[in-house]
Amino acid sequence: MNSILPFTRPAIDEATIESVTAVLRSGWLTSGPKVQAFEGELSALMGGRPVRSLNSGTAALEIALNLIGIQPGDEVITTPLSWVATANVILHAGATPVFVDIDPVTRNIDPRRVAEAITPRTRAIIPVDLAGLPADRDALYDIAWKHGLRVIEDAAQSFGSSWHGKPIGSFGDLVAFSFHANKNITTGEGGCLVLPDASLVPACEKMRLQGVVRLADGSMEVDLPGGKFNLTDLAAAIGLGQLPHLGEFTARRRALARLYFARLDPAAGFELPLANFSDSNWHMFQLVLPLGDMRFGRGEFIARMRARGIALGVHYPPIHLFHLYRALGHHEGEFPQAERIGAGTITLPLFPAMSDHDVQRVCDALHVTLQEALS
Ligand SMILES: *Cc1c(COP(=O)(O)O)cnc(C)c1O
Repeated sequence: MNSILPFTRPAIDEATIESVTAVLRSGWLTSGPKVQAFEGELSALMGGRPVRSLNSGTAALEIALNLIGIQPGDEVITTPLSWVATANVILHAGATPVFVDIDPVTRNIDPRRVAEAITPRTRAIIPVDLAGLPADRDALYDIAWKHGLRVIEDAAQSFGSSWHGKPIGSFGDLVAFSFHANKNITTGEGGCLVLPDASLVPACEKMRLQGVVRLADGSMEVDLPGGKFNLTDLAAAIGLGQLPHLGEFTARRRALARLYFARLDPAAGFELPLANFSDSNWHMFQLVLPLGDMRFGRGEFIARMRARGIALGVHYPPIHLFHLYRALGHHEGEFPQAERIGAGTITLPLFPAMSDHDVQRVCDALHVTLQEALS
């Protein structure tokens, strides 16, 4: 009762621990049979589309940008309310991130504003499924196809989410997932890239590992300076142990989210997330604090919650206000919705092993702490 409830915790079963131990004993630790098996299972989940595993979700985004030929001078449209990786990869490719404000209801990129941000230099859109709620695929693909743009879905948070009943990753252009320890399915660190067709597989594999191509006669050739982005068999074994639980993890997260809606007083003053129980995998449950009415700030709110045994997260400060992006000319007031939500957002504990009683504890602590803040 006195231990701190974390905002997330991976769920690793004994069978997974044993399978990782077996890899350690096998003598083959890096990419091998487990990676192949993991990619096969991922592809099956994505309707048979080609999938290549990587050592991070960031690597998946970087390779995706390279695969579609993004170059210096190109513009890539994305959201300012995401993990900074989403925009950093665009800079890495030498291109310019063009931020578009969010829709405050979904907290995802506002498709109505995307069209206005398109210039002759725009090459691609990177939508993000914040908290696991899919960005509007219909509207975004309409715009993208109409303007001849590629789409790289940053689905780092939406593994197990769906759109009109179809799993995220099973349709569309390029789709990047992350298996970071905090994501719904983890390999410790890791990720994968879903490709729209098999013709991109050889280039993806080259970019993943030093540009090396193995020839039929056993020799090798290199024709591009690939990176070092391959997943280990140790990590793939964790992923193989996670995938059978995907349905149950998602169902439990949805049930916990429903419980939050039932137990949180709608009149308390928190701004609730969109109540979507069909598409979202509920990677996170986020409230926005009524900062303008509070006599102390978010930091103090989080400290008081911690003193009550509840850890909260902050996902995310808007990317354009980091020093790196201010130095590129961005400033406060540019994206008011992302700034307002980024300033007030808190992430509540939500992970499959949480109990219904934990949700009640969180809600009780939230109500007391908000009362203090508003008194
Ligand atoms: C986690 C995350 C990433 C990066 O994934 P890594 O596996 O940590 O490299 C990118 N975008 C979003 C939205 C994320 O949540």
